[in-house]
Amino acid sequence: ALQVCLPLNALGFVYREARDAWVNAERLFELLRERPEIQDAPNAPPLRPGPGEIVFDHVSFHYEPERPVLTDLCLRIDPGTTLAVVGRSGSGKSTLARLLLRYYEPASGRILVDGQDIRTVTASSLRGAIGVVPQDTALFNDTIGNNIAYGRIGSTRTEVVAACRAAHLHELIAALPHKYDTPVGERGVNLSGGERQRIAIARAILKNPPILIFDEATSALDADSEHAISQELDRLSRNRTTLIIAHRLSTIVNADAIVVMERGRIVERGTHAELLRHHGAYARLWLLQQRMDKDMAL
Ligand code: ADP
Ligand code: MG
Repeated sequence: ALQVCLPLNALGFVYREARDAWVNAERLFELLRERPEIQDAPNAPPLRPGPGEIVFDHVSFHYEPERPVLTDLCLRIDPGTTLAVVGRSGSGKSTLARLLLRYYEPASGRILVDGQDIRTVTASSLRGAIGVVPQDTALFNDTIGNNIAYGRIGSTRTEVVAACRAAHLHELIAALPHKYDTPVGERGVNLSGGERQRIAIARAILKNPPILIFDEATSALDADSEHAISQELDRLSRNRTTLIIAHRLSTIVNADAIVVMERGRIVERGTHAELLRHHGAYARLWLLQQRMDKDMAL
């Protein structure tokens, strides 16, 4: 039995590790510096603060040679506006976010933030300017208060509470046995997918960055939480340059622009109304989703 158990446990461990590493890549890469190829140029300056204009200029990228993931992709997000990216799973949406955060670098082309090639500035200053609300939020074995304060090192309890009020998290925390000092994680309170996402939103509110990336949860949220969270996101993204990776189209009808990706290329761009009139890939996705929502409601 031992022989069977051990590998299975080991597998579980590896799976958890891999999953956490995936989820938590932002932090792990920073802590472990696992990707030595992504290094700051000698004497790289910090990113000069600006309004948050983002440009992908003929970007191509692959994780493995022979398997292109992004092909000659051009994209501009004007300062303070919201761009939504939609497309099937595997079309390259999250890769856009990873490249913008410089966890990977383009094989060709450039990514500019406020006119600065992100390869020429320090990764830490770049990441400091970008708030990420990921699909699954990594929590540390610490109190819920500290988990949120991680959004900005050095923030005060008053600031944490204000951020939690804005993220509609305060009432939940106030009802916990030790309030903000309640542990979360393995030996602490269990949080639902929606609550974890609110923690990410509270962190982003604390961080107050000019640029925001929101990788929407897929099925983790029920329709009500999803509605509440998309309202919070709307508020958070106001006056910030926002990249939304959208799995559900209902949350992006108000985006300033939408791009549809297929196999690492942009196949359509426009507003929601324009894309519906176009009767193309987006309109088909929209119809499909409406139909699925109706089925789910039955
Ligand atoms: P999306 O977010 O649109 O679902 P991704 O950007 O995550 O898609 O992935 C795009 C493609 O790249 C997929 O085919 C995926 O399997 C592949 N991919 C993603 N991450 C890696 C990785 N770390 N190594 C190898 N291939 C990857
Ligand atoms: Mg993705």
